[in-house]
Amino acid sequence: MKIDVTRRQTQRTRPADKDLGFGKVFADHMFMMDHEPGKGWHSARVVPYGPLTLDPASAVFHYGQAMFEGLKAFRGKDDVVRIFRLDEHCKRLARGAERLCMPSPDLALLEDGIKTLVDVDRAWVPASVGTALYIRPTLIATEPFLGVRPSARHTFFVITSPVAAYYAEGLNPVKIWIEDTYVRASKGGLGAVKAGANYAASLLAAEEAKKRGYSQVLWLDAANHRDLEEVGTMNVFIRFNDEVATPALSGSILPGITRASVIDLLRSWGMNATERTITVDEIVERHKKGELLEVFGSGTAAVISPVGELGWHGQRMVLGDGNVGEVSRRLYEAITGIQYGTAKDEHGWLWEVPVARPNGASKKAQPAVARH
Ligand SMILES: *Cc1c(COP(=O)(O)O)cnc(C)c1O
Repeated sequence: MKIDVTRRQTQRTRPADKDLGFGKVFADHMFMMDHEPGKGWHSARVVPYGPLTLDPASAVFHYGQAMFEGLKAFRGKDDVVRIFRLDEHCKRLARGAERLCMPSPDLALLEDGIKTLVDVDRAWVPASVGTALYIRPTLIATEPFLGVRPSARHTFFVITSPVAAYYAEGLNPVKIWIEDTYVRASKGGLGAVKAGANYAASLLAAEEAKKRGYSQVLWLDAANHRDLEEVGTMNVFIRFNDEVATPALSGSILPGITRASVIDLLRSWGMNATERTITVDEIVERHKKGELLEVFGSGTAAVISPVGELGWHGQRMVLGDGNVGEVSRRLYEAITGIQYGTAKDEHGWLWEVPVARPNGASKKAQPAVARH
């Protein structure tokens, strides 16, 4: 499908890298397209960033048919702009749409829309180490109808936000509260989908954890409050001696792309990465025995987020004397090295954003390396 590009008349300037923060500054343009019966996806376009006009009866406002993705584009030292695992993010969006009874654009169109937008706003991809252009594709139900059934109209849009380095002062271990009352998601529910509803469900627990002096919560399974699921909005990994374990994808866990990358890297280093049930009792027991060496979260925003302390029923479990564990650090450096083009992309995770030529042809280059 042809993508129409309408540029802003005057380009704004991107703030200095140190003033970016996370998700509060938006680039000049957005990608949009619409879906309705008989027409399918149509009107793919890049337009100036700005407010949407929606009917107040739109299904998204009432029944929460909405989902999103989160991925990043990086500017390498060679000035080439590369998107990390674009194909996997698009596939996950398509699977999520199915679960929410929404139509997904086909993968080629999704990839093309995102690459075209990033190319148009190439000047918004910051360059200093740790910064990135965060990409937020979003799918919403827009039919103005209050009956409860899947919406017949949808809008897909992509906005982007230049973001500052997550760790301006180096990897920073956080304190995490193990949550035994609230749950994020249950088996059979929406936990495996990047649905806005999961975030709505998670906010109160995080607020209460903050009041107790913790930055986020470790979620347990909804049925028994026993099995580890995720940490905040990230997947969780535990290093017990020589094993690096993460909860198996059970239906209520979001299949993180950083999670998959971590598992691939650990295995490529000959380490024992496992996907299995991890109970809170095992955490407590093995911490007592000195076998709980590292805990960290994985996700697009922070890449790796080391945990320095776990709180559980009044007990404080301190990890690694508050220092960053060696596996956490090695993973962080390996993944960011690939993202910024300073390490070899052996797994074929980077997608170059080709530079559009004036005649509409573009320099051929994606994926950057053959995919496996
Ligand atoms: C997005 C997300 C993750 C991390 O996924 P990545 O693909 O690694 O960014 C983990 N858990 C939840 C709940 C998420 O929404």
